[in-house]
Amino acid sequence: MTNQEIIDKLLKGEMKLYQVDSEVSAKQATDIRREFLEQKYDIKLDNISNYTLDMERASARNIENSIGVLQLPMGIAGPLKINGEYCQREVFVPLATSEGALVASINRGASTITASGGANARVVSDIMTRAPAIKCDGVNDALKIKQWFIDNFDELKEVAESTTSHGKLIKIDPILIVGSYVYPRFVFSTGDSMGMNMVTIASEKILEKLAHDTTATHLALSGNVCVDKKPAAINIVEGRGKSVIADILIPKEIVAKKLKTEVDTIVEVNTAKNLIGSAASGSMAFNAHYANMVAAIFLATGQDAAHVVEGSLGITTAENRNGDLYFSVNLPDLPVATVGGGTSLEVAHEGLEILGVAGSGKAREFAEIVASTVLAGELSLVGAIAAGHLARAHQQHGRG
Ligand code: NAP
Repeated sequence: MTNQEIIDKLLKGEMKLYQVDSEVSAKQATDIRREFLEQKYDIKLDNISNYTLDMERASARNIENSIGVLQLPMGIAGPLKINGEYCQREVFVPLATSEGALVASINRGASTITASGGANARVVSDIMTRAPAIKCDGVNDALKIKQWFIDNFDELKEVAESTTSHGKLIKIDPILIVGSYVYPRFVFSTGDSMGMNMVTIASEKILEKLAHDTTATHLALSGNVCVDKKPAAINIVEGRGKSVIADILIPKEIVAKKLKTEVDTIVEVNTAKNLIGSAASGSMAFNAHYANMVAAIFLATGQDAAHVVEGSLGITTAENRNGDLYFSVNLPDLPVATVGGGTSLEVAHEGLEILGVAGSGKAREFAEIVASTVLAGELSLVGAIAAGHLARAHQQHGRG
């Protein structure tokens, strides 16, 4: 069939969009589906059609029903000095966003941090989780199933780890019971991959053994106690992905010069906005805008964009330390990878290469870079709000 013959079939509803793949190459199928849309809606998709990415490879791993590629502007912020356990150098951070002023703001924060000696960053936990929903007869049975997981941990670990060379089952904890349902939270380490596919496959093996050895069966491989791609207290307390912290002590002269404000004003803005305002509104994220930095880095480096919702969680603190500014961020739930998933896409790989963290052995270094960038963006925005408040206060004072 020619391209137009396939498009005609699509237009008449005689062929499904996914069926095009079995007729032609992935690249050609991509063109056909896009041209189908152009003809159906009488539109031109000239920009979606422009790309360098290997669509054969992407179609095998990353996308179904492909029609082309999304382009976003990418900027760079830095140098950003980091004094981490894994990252001890200056970096330039690639940021993909359509939000004007974001890169400039992060850049200002990076400059403030670098002038103050660098961000101290540490990965304090490194796990990935899956928690299925298991159906039992009732509470007594549920308790027996819970005990089964505890008693058979060594064997379940062996079964799970038979599916992967990098994934390790660390623990099954907590094991929640609600009525006749049991939710064991399988906690893995997943090397440099984000790990969701890896732990899902490993968890399936555990559940096969559960079905074989007991009368219980799982209703859902993910029972939402994981908790994947949703904000959740369990992730904040127990951690998920990388849990990362970063802080900095900024001399008051640098606060004045770079952020154009005063230490006490920053401390008060942080308290009023990030702490009290967040508490009053029942927010789960006690910060100004972690999601902005996390989203821009995730898009530039091929992370799973839906995990921005998890990376948006965390608490920002600010203190006056003998006149200087102590400022910190805490990201308990940052699923990141330097291997697997979208990181193998050509553009994403280049983003990771700018940071020097492409490939194996780099995920924790990358996590320290993300946390330090969040510190820069958070500092800059809270500083800007404080500077605005200060400017208004001075203006009013001048008028008075
Ligand atoms: P993956 O690409 O499926 O798995 C990572 C692969 O990299 C494994 O085959 C692993 O081999 C290999 N690997 C090589 N070097 C490694 C190293 N140094 N550290 C760790 N692994 C290494 O990726 P994933 O991280 O498990 O899953 C990410 C994908 O899952 C994303 O595309 C995301 O969108 C998607 N996702 C899936 C679900 C789900 O429920 N399935 C949910 C959310 C997101 P071994 O396994 O042999 O060690």
